[in-house]
Amino acid sequence: TDTSPAATSHRVPADLPNHIQHYVDGKFIDSVDGATFEVLDPVSNKTYLQAAAGKRADIDKAVAAAQRAFREGPWPRMLPRERSRVLHRVADIVASRDSRLAELESYDSGLPITQALGQAKRAAENFRFFADLIVAQADDTYKVPGRQINYVNRKPIGVAGLITPWNTPFMLESWKLGPALATGNTVVLKPAEFTPLSASLWAGIFEEAGLPQGVFNLINGLGEEAGDALVKHPGVPLISFTGESTTGQLIFANAAPFLKGLSMELGGKSPAVVFADADLDAAIDATVFGVFSLNGERCTAGSRILVQHDIYDEFVRRYAEQAKRVVVGYPHDPATEVGALVHPEHYEKVMSYVEIGKTEGRLVAGGGRPEGFETGNFIAPTVFADVPPEARIFQEEIFGPIVAITPFDTDEEALKLANNTKYGLAAYIWTNDLKRAHNFAQSVEAGMVWLNSNNVRDLRTPFGGVKASGLGHEGGYRSIDFYTDQQAVHITL
Ligand code: NAD
Repeated sequence: TDTSPAATSHRVPADLPNHIQHYVDGKFIDSVDGATFEVLDPVSNKTYLQAAAGKRADIDKAVAAAQRAFREGPWPRMLPRERSRVLHRVADIVASRDSRLAELESYDSGLPITQALGQAKRAAENFRFFADLIVAQADDTYKVPGRQINYVNRKPIGVAGLITPWNTPFMLESWKLGPALATGNTVVLKPAEFTPLSASLWAGIFEEAGLPQGVFNLINGLGEEAGDALVKHPGVPLISFTGESTTGQLIFANAAPFLKGLSMELGGKSPAVVFADADLDAAIDATVFGVFSLNGERCTAGSRILVQHDIYDEFVRRYAEQAKRVVVGYPHDPATEVGALVHPEHYEKVMSYVEIGKTEGRLVAGGGRPEGFETGNFIAPTVFADVPPEARIFQEEIFGPIVAITPFDTDEEALKLANNTKYGLAAYIWTNDLKRAHNFAQSVEAGMVWLNSNNVRDLRTPFGGVKASGLGHEGGYRSIDFYTDQQAVHITL
């Protein structure tokens, strides 16, 4: 047997499918025209499965099934508590399969296995959260004494179209499926074409949990084909999209003639601002994790680090040392901290930024393939210092383990630099000055701010960005708002 590192390092999960289908009206089906597309694993970059490639005719079928389930089925009419029970069962099933889910996700996407496991647990938690929230849902009632009582009726809208990206795919699908279903809608999910494997498990999970037939439908396929047909389908009044800002712009335009409800979670180039009075050990740990976890393929990555002059040299030196210690490895290995990037096309894109960075900043760590990884989409955690704000690696979303560090002197300068991109998703601020922290949070153009904190979410808070990072917020009651029509009812007394 071959015991070379290349052979032993590539672990293929047992019982891997070699063909995955759509799921419509409770049945697995192929595309109407029989078309498929190839899915690669990011370590060998070889095709390991064919997935059904949906087009308009397939989307039509899925939407028809979802419309029927909405019009005639029990789901929209069930009591919130009854729907909640089904969603709790979904959470239980997801939780009970988290290691299998993590194994498949890690194989398909290249995420480190320990982090893929964390994401599987988050997926279960998303379902549990919305299952609880829908039962606790309170709606407004207003009384004008002696004249009127006014209250709000909340109604599911219909078929929700859910379009998701390839980074942490299963978790991000759960973030849309949970609230869309909790509120009584039916859905058509179009998962990302780079990573359709974990999404193929949803059908079995929902069947086992007792979700009525036709409520959940899934069409695989390319964005320009299946995704586009979903966006342009007149029977889909809502689109919740997570992906690149440029794709979001296109979807906006394509949905405009139909006046659809849109929720857009888009790209980011989030700053981490480190002031001289910060707890430096904590700031370095968090900013290393903030850009290198999830392979840097994370919308809220702190991919620009702004550091105050007084501590700049020390920060850069210690940061580079720590970045060099980040363990790059095979996705299935529990010791791995950065795995393989999702796809050779994305790998080429990220590598092109490494070369661009070498002309724009000072390379202090990484800068190419890590030693011992001659093939596969591996990249060494890469750090550029002294990056000027006009640099492309300061302005553009790279979506990989690459970080730009830039010095600043004053609070005003830090704020100007922080806001100096088209994006506005997240910001991380490190300072022990309470007033400065809150004032900076108030002024920074970001949908989410973490003060002296890692990126830890509270599902009740709004999630979303400003500027090119998105439109609309989900999270907590905001998700319930997006997935429901709110009707005002007035009664004269
Ligand atoms: P992408 O925009 O290329 O694709 C996202 C999804 O849209 C895929 O399912 C794709 O098939 C589909 N799609 C592509 N073109 C389409 C079209 N014309 N019509 C309809 N659907 C279409 O994004 P990606 O590369 O898969 O994901 C990475 C991006 O997602 C990054 O920019 C990242 O910042 C962003 N992201 C944002 C958040 C957030 O919450 N803000 C979270 C995760 C990822």
